[in-house]
Parts: sequence; C-alpha cells; structure tokens
Amino acid sequence: MKEILSDRTKLIDSSGIRKVFALAASLKDPVNFSIGQPDFDVPDELKEEAIKAIRAGQNKYSQTAGDAILKERIAEEVRDEFGWSEPAVLVASGVSGGLLLAFLALINPDDEVIIPDPYFVIYKHIINMLGGRCVFVDSYPNFELPIEKIADAITNKTKMIILNSPCNPTGVVYSEQQIKALAKITAEKGILILTDEIYERFCYDGECPSIADYYEKTLVLRGFSKSYAMTGWRLGYVAASESLKDVVEEMTKIQQYTFVCAPTPFQKAAVAAMDYETSDFVDAYRKKRDLLYEGLKDKFELVKPSGAFYAFVKAPSGSGTEFVEKAIANNVLVIPGNVFSEKDTHFRISYATSDEKIQEGIEILRRL
Ligand code: PMP
Repeated sequence: MKEILSDRTKLIDSSGIRKVFALAASLKDPVNFSIGQPDFDVPDELKEEAIKAIRAGQNKYSQTAGDAILKERIAEEVRDEFGWSEPAVLVASGVSGGLLLAFLALINPDDEVIIPDPYFVIYKHIINMLGGRCVFVDSYPNFELPIEKIADAITNKTKMIILNSPCNPTGVVYSEQQIKALAKITAEKGILILTDEIYERFCYDGECPSIADYYEKTLVLRGFSKSYAMTGWRLGYVAASESLKDVVEEMTKIQQYTFVCAPTPFQKAAVAAMDYETSDFVDAYRKKRDLLYEGLKDKFELVKPSGAFYAFVKAPSGSGTEFVEKAIANNVLVIPGNVFSEKDTHFRISYATSDEKIQEGIEILRRL
C-alpha cells in the first residue's frame, strides 16, 4: 500500500496526537482536557436559522466566494473595525479551509514562513506539504510576540509571517504595543501577515488587538467554529483590505476547484450568528480560565492565559510527553507540547469542559 502514496503524505507526522488518543481509548470517563472545541452547543436560535434555510430549499451551491448577504455582513464588520473601504471577502470551509487556500495561493517551494513557536499544528503541516519552509521563532517562556527574533529571521525568501492571537496552544494575547512594533517592521519590508483570529471572541482581559488595525497587508482569518460551538458546520472567512484583493481572488479561484463553496444553509445561519450576543459564553469561559489558573499556578509554571481556552503548562519534571503519559495513566487527557512546538517541555490543557471536570482535573494534576 505504502508505495502508492504520494511523497507528501510522509511530510505529515501525527504520531504525537495519535499516541494520546490510543492511550486514551481505554479510559473510562476521563477528565478530557484535550478537546479543541467549546463544551456548549450551538444556540437554538442559530440552529433554527440553519433548519429554516434547509426547509426553504437553500441547499444548493452558493457563489464560490460565499453567500452575498453573508459576504456583505462580513465586509461591513471589517470595514467598521479596520477602516478598509473596499474589503475583499471569501467565505471558506472553516479557518482550516481558508488556511489551505491561502497557502496554496501564496507559497512556492523554498518560500519561508515565519511562525512563532508554539504554534497551531495545521500551519506547519500544510506549509511542509507545499514545499515551503517553516521558520520557527521561539516565544518561550512567556509566549509574547518575539519581535526581535522575527525581525532577525526575515530574509529575502520570507513570504509571510503567521500570527495567532489569542493563541492555540498558549492562550496568550499579543499586546497592542507588540503588534504595533511588528507592524512597523513588516511595513518597512512589505511583508505579508496572515493573522488567525479564530479565538477573537474568547478574550478575557480587555481588548484583543488585531494587526489588521495597524498594517494593511494583512490577511485576516476568522471563524464560526469556536465562537458559536459550530465546529462541524465548517464555516470561516478570509478578509483583507483592497491592497490584497488579488490574493483573495486567487484563493477564490482555488476554492472553485476544490471546496467549491462553504456549506450553503450554514452560511445563511452565519448571518444571524454575526449578530448573536456571545458575552454569556465568554463570561463562563473567563470563569473557567480563572478556575484552572488559580488551581494550578502555585504548583506549575504557566502563563495566565488571556484568551482562547487553553493553557500551556511546563512539565514539572521530564519531557512534556513523559508527563502526558503519566497524566493519562491517571485519567487526565492532555496533549504534549511537542505537537505544537519544536520543543517537548510543556503540555496543553484545554479547559473547554464542565467546571466539575476542571476541578477534578486540577486535583489529579496537582498530585502528579
Ligand atoms: N486556527 C486555530 C488556531 C485553531 O485552533 C483551529 C481549530 N482548532 C483552527 C484554526 C481551525 O478551525 P476551523 O477549521 O474549525 O474553523
């Protein structure tokens, strides 16, 4: 079988995650700190919008770049937020879909992409598959934006810099000051920024600034999966200022021959989602963040997360992988840091679970 597979399949190594799930398969009612999706369900009003769209026969292809009403609603949002007069918008099959289209449209073999480490896993694997080169810049131990290291990593092969704030896996939110400093550097060199803002609504301590506010040559990727717990609906979007219109057009062309369009009835529901008030969810998640952080901070080395629903915790002894094996043997599922990093010193906790399970998990982790 092996010989029929493409060489590019060998560039993806998912053994770290698979090992966790294999170990986890035997557990009964574990504390599951491994899941990257909210524990609440899609709000009923939004479910009704999707059902209404399906009943009304809106089940065919939408336009490649997305339903016209949804695109206009997204354009209005980014116009207001970033002051872009004629934004380019593409509705994608999740942020993952948007990322694939962006990388397909932009990355040539040997192009370099600068990525703060730790990072969300997808970036590395798609870029590698396309023959691009990931240039990781270490952001340990506080996971703030490593501006000087990024500046030093820029070469004439640099195609883009990827930002993810709030960050998966660290929960860190980049400050306005850091973002402005980076925008100044990229403006001097004209380098493209791709900012993955899928967790923008999970923002607990004031604002979560976007580099798109300070730098025009920015592709913004945002999604519906996390904000409304609709990870299975496969909806996200790409938005950019007029200066990147050609990039978004090329991405749309690739969508035409790959995904074709994002799921139509869910695009209809997404229009209502954009006006749906999510502050109750965010308040509940802020409390979960507090519960987890307060429960671990005196025993473990961890940065207080300001967004998303993750904490990236230093393994108290041994490697991240060794600690994860111990945690799983004690019924707590966590993910080793080397899934998200070139280092294996930490582990990721997702606190997107019930308060009772968070409490139970804290108690077990403290005993290890
Ligand atoms: N970016 C980040 C940082 C994520 O954590 C995720 C989901 N785990 C995604 C993108 C992809 O989300 P989706 O494709 O569901 O929109």
